Amino acid sequence: MRLADAHCHLLDSAFSADLAEVVERAKRAGVVYMVSSTLSVAEAMRHASMAGELMEAGVFWSIGLDPRLYSREAEEVEELARKFSHSIAAIGEVGLDFKMARGVEEREVQRRVFSDFISLAMELKKPIVVHSRWSQKAVLDLLEEHRADLVLLHAYTGSSSDVERAAKLGYLISVSTSVTRHAGTRRVAAEAPLECLVLESDSPALAPVAGERNEPANIAVAAAEVARIRGVEAAVVSEAAFENTVGLYSLPMSLLSSSRALDT
Ligand SMILES: [Zn+2]
Repeated sequence: MRLADAHCHLLDSAFSADLAEVVERAKRAGVVYMVSSTLSVAEAMRHASMAGELMEAGVFWSIGLDPRLYSREAEEVEELARKFSHSIAAIGEVGLDFKMARGVEEREVQRRVFSDFISLAMELKKPIVVHSRWSQKAVLDLLEEHRADLVLLHAYTGSSSDVERAAKLGYLISVSTSVTRHAGTRRVAAEAPLECLVLESDSPALAPVAGERNEPANIAVAAAEVARIRGVEAAVVSEAAFENTVGLYSLPMSLLSSSRALDT
């Protein structure tokens, strides 16, 4: 079974002691590709210094920014995305987090920065990985306004009508490993059309078991659970999600047969 982790954070400090083992376990579980997202200038610089080696191990890079850092680091992250556009698979995660931003002004800053990132992704012809907490409608409105076409809605928990709208717009809908325990995620896993479905771990967050450190190897658990919910074979889900992920990020199929261990 070929698997892909469409979104995770492997440079998070939770993995600083054993990143090579984590990637190795993912490989043994059948996870060929992982797309790891950075969330700050510091993290992006760190990923840049290891990007070649990570890519050989199947770990691709998406450059994004934590909404809490929008007013401080957005410009610098945009510059880095341009500088490393040859090396990154996507822009993101970026988006709106209205749980974090309760005030009108703060939400306006988020909209402005997110809009800039959508424009940048389109200019660089990269997909955009989107965070949408408490902001599903606002996110879809902005993406549609910009006519964004390469979109992954990460750890998606939108309503049934949001799922329908996103699918109509041709966006990919990402189901996280917490599908084992989260009602909204289970509903999305049942409703998303197969041609829009991808799987992600969002490691180290959203583990199948609450409170545990998550890792990309758990994509196998998510594939099995989504298949159970949909009443199909796990291979049907994993293969569709794999192909959708490879297609969105334009990942090189050459890695399928040979990839190296991470030497850190
Ligand atoms: Zn994430």
